[in-house]
Amino acid sequence: PEVLLEDLDHVGPATAQKLMEAGFTTVEAIAVSSPAELATAADIGESTAAKIILAARQSADIGGFETGDIVLERRKLVGKLSTGCVEFDEMMGGGIDTQSITEMYGEFGSGKTQVAHQLAVNVQLPQEQGGLNGSVIIIDTENTFRPERIEQMVAGLSERFGMEYDYEEFLKNIRVARAFNSNHQILLVDSALELANELKDAEKPVKLIIVDSLTAHFRAEYIGRGTLADRQQKLNKHLHGLQRFGDLNNACVVVTNQVMSKPDAFFGDPTKPIGGHIVGHTATFRLYLRKSKGDKRIVRLVDSPNLPDGEAIISVTTPGLRD
Ligand code: ADP
Ligand code: MG
Repeated sequence: PEVLLEDLDHVGPATAQKLMEAGFTTVEAIAVSSPAELATAADIGESTAAKIILAARQSADIGGFETGDIVLERRKLVGKLSTGCVEFDEMMGGGIDTQSITEMYGEFGSGKTQVAHQLAVNVQLPQEQGGLNGSVIIIDTENTFRPERIEQMVAGLSERFGMEYDYEEFLKNIRVARAFNSNHQILLVDSALELANELKDAEKPVKLIIVDSLTAHFRAEYIGRGTLADRQQKLNKHLHGLQRFGDLNNACVVVTNQVMSKPDAFFGDPTKPIGGHIVGHTATFRLYLRKSKGDKRIVRLVDSPNLPDGEAIISVTTPGLRD
């Protein structure tokens, strides 16, 4: 049963109204907010805000401890989303995991956005074709989502499976939002939670959220501003919001991250992904993509809690990713 804001301790009708107007429309959104944010949004004191957040966390059952058997029950539900490439899937132990954040990092043109498009198509397939029979939410920060590319990849599915697919149906199950800055990007995760909640009982519930690119806005906004700690804190909060999205919806979370080909004094080592250890510690799987000959790309699994490191070669072709 859905918990209404008014049902929370310390939230009266007026506060509930103000919270809703400020975009805190769900108990989850409040649970992951900070007292300062909430205080400003609802025009209340920070100590009251802290109490409301605590109530929201208890109600949404977040931030607490879980016993191992409950964790195990949830882990049993982990789904696998096929990339459509045999080697790539095998390296990932069958595909991209739900309830985990998978980060793809690499230089410009290494194929991150192409893999993201392919996953947005594949997730809609039934399980016997490697999908999760779900829909997808894309937070597009670089304006690189291309419906035409989806059309080509859906045509590529017909080639693979010898069946006809309707690309318009696929496009209808992809919900894209442009993020105009890092704050907007963070807020879009709350909207995504709401949307996924609305679609919970739909024919295709949300089984994948993509943030492409996770770090571009953060990088651009904080350049030369000596506020690294502030940036990392926001990025950390954003990643935890995404992890929560994955847990609540048993969905895959896929984020992209750039590495700089040109050294950048402020961000240090040019071969390291942006966001450094913050992203590294929160992402469960890290994939390093790099260009090889022609349409070939090398995908390296850099970090995983339960899989050996490895490499897979994929091809980025017009009908989609291939071995
Ligand atoms: P990034 O890692 O910067 O997100 P992209 O995923 O956008 O990189 O990869 C861009 C590359 O994908 C292009 O250089 C090209 O090799 C390939 N590509 C893009 N569109 C097509 C297409 N329609 N057919 C074949 N290859 C494509
Ligand atoms: Mg890209």
